[in-house]
Amino acid sequence: MDLLIKKAHIFDEKGKRDIGIENGKISEIGSVKSEAKKVIDADGRLIYSCYIDPHIHLDKVLIADDLPPNKSGTLKEAIELIWDRKKKYTVEDVKKRAKEVMKKGISNGTLKMRTSVDVDTIGGLTPLEGVLAAREEMKNEIDLDIVAFPQEGIVRDPGTEDLMREAMKKGADLVGGMPHHEKSHSYAEEHVDIVFDIANKFGVDIDMHVDETDDPDSRTLEIVADKTIEEGYEGRVTAAHTCALAAYPDDYAKKVIEKVKEANINMVTNPVTNLVVQGREDKQPIRRGITRVKELLKAGINVSFGQDCVKDAFYPFGQADMLEVALFTAHTAQLTNPDEIKTVFRMMTDNAAKILGIEDNYGVEVGKPADLVMVDAPTAAEAIRLHPPKRWVVRKGKLVSSPDREH
Ligand SMILES: [Zn+2]
Repeated sequence: MDLLIKKAHIFDEKGKRDIGIENGKISEIGSVKSEAKKVIDADGRLIYSCYIDPHIHLDKVLIADDLPPNKSGTLKEAIELIWDRKKKYTVEDVKKRAKEVMKKGISNGTLKMRTSVDVDTIGGLTPLEGVLAAREEMKNEIDLDIVAFPQEGIVRDPGTEDLMREAMKKGADLVGGMPHHEKSHSYAEEHVDIVFDIANKFGVDIDMHVDETDDPDSRTLEIVADKTIEEGYEGRVTAAHTCALAAYPDDYAKKVIEKVKEANINMVTNPVTNLVVQGREDKQPIRRGITRVKELLKAGINVSFGQDCVKDAFYPFGQADMLEVALFTAHTAQLTNPDEIKTVFRMMTDNAAKILGIEDNYGVEVGKPADLVMVDAPTAAEAIRLHPPKRWVVRKGKLVSSPDREH
């Protein structure tokens, strides 16, 4: 046996168990007597499969110091503030920043990420090339899915559609979208049609930014849900942000949630960014700007959350720590009862695994990959309360990060 973790508290299970690891996989769980090359005494600490960030923008991370301040604080100003910096991106610059955040994520226990990468006529394919280079250099340390994301719209930014097709050929894994950013509802429909056309052509899944606005008239989630069913794409589409869903009248929101359920769309809320970029026109009360998390969960829809931004024009904070984002999610979605707090922890683990389509190879079970995180807290609730700095991260059976750096 290569590694033995003694007396750990596996998330949502009772008591303390030993976890034996061999050849990168979990080989035994229970009271393990076998000898191991390396032994870690968990002492009742919480352990589970690696954390997953299903929504981050690695091409934009860590550029805040190069930008003028976002005076309005809005999404629109953030997008426009980045234009000049985006023109100056180089592959090396994007790669370096992306890697720094990927490394931070790993030390915090995140071994899988899905990043959207801007594809538009301002930065061309440089953001993609930078993130592809980062992925290549980090491929033994973290798994990364890349979404070709038309941040500036498709119809309103002629040339983007061709660039997106090129991005798919160059190595992007999923097609992104941002239909609400088009100039009208009919252009938004055209945008969604183009996204599905590209996805169909390349045989890939879709991960779109949908209705990232407080505007109750922004109704593109319904378009995406209808199109998903029409194209037989059920279970293959993720919709992120969907802030406007919270601004809709309750009866319309109910109808859209039913369609999202029927289309089996995965939902990702991004509370840290949306708490600061939404509601900027409100006086009081100021809306939270996040989607209807509780109602979506109640409807049986798969919901996760993402870091979204790390120190860019949208959000000046962030440290690629899913436990920190979990704490924000619990606050903003008011998930505070013991079972709800467990749900928050599931959102960044099991639910996110489902979004990435890796649920069969995820979880603490014999035969599954030994991609594990242990934190210096006894339960998920305590882990979210404290987001403790002391973490032990195991990837493919090897200790890749630990507080004592003895690996
Ligand atoms: Zn985003």
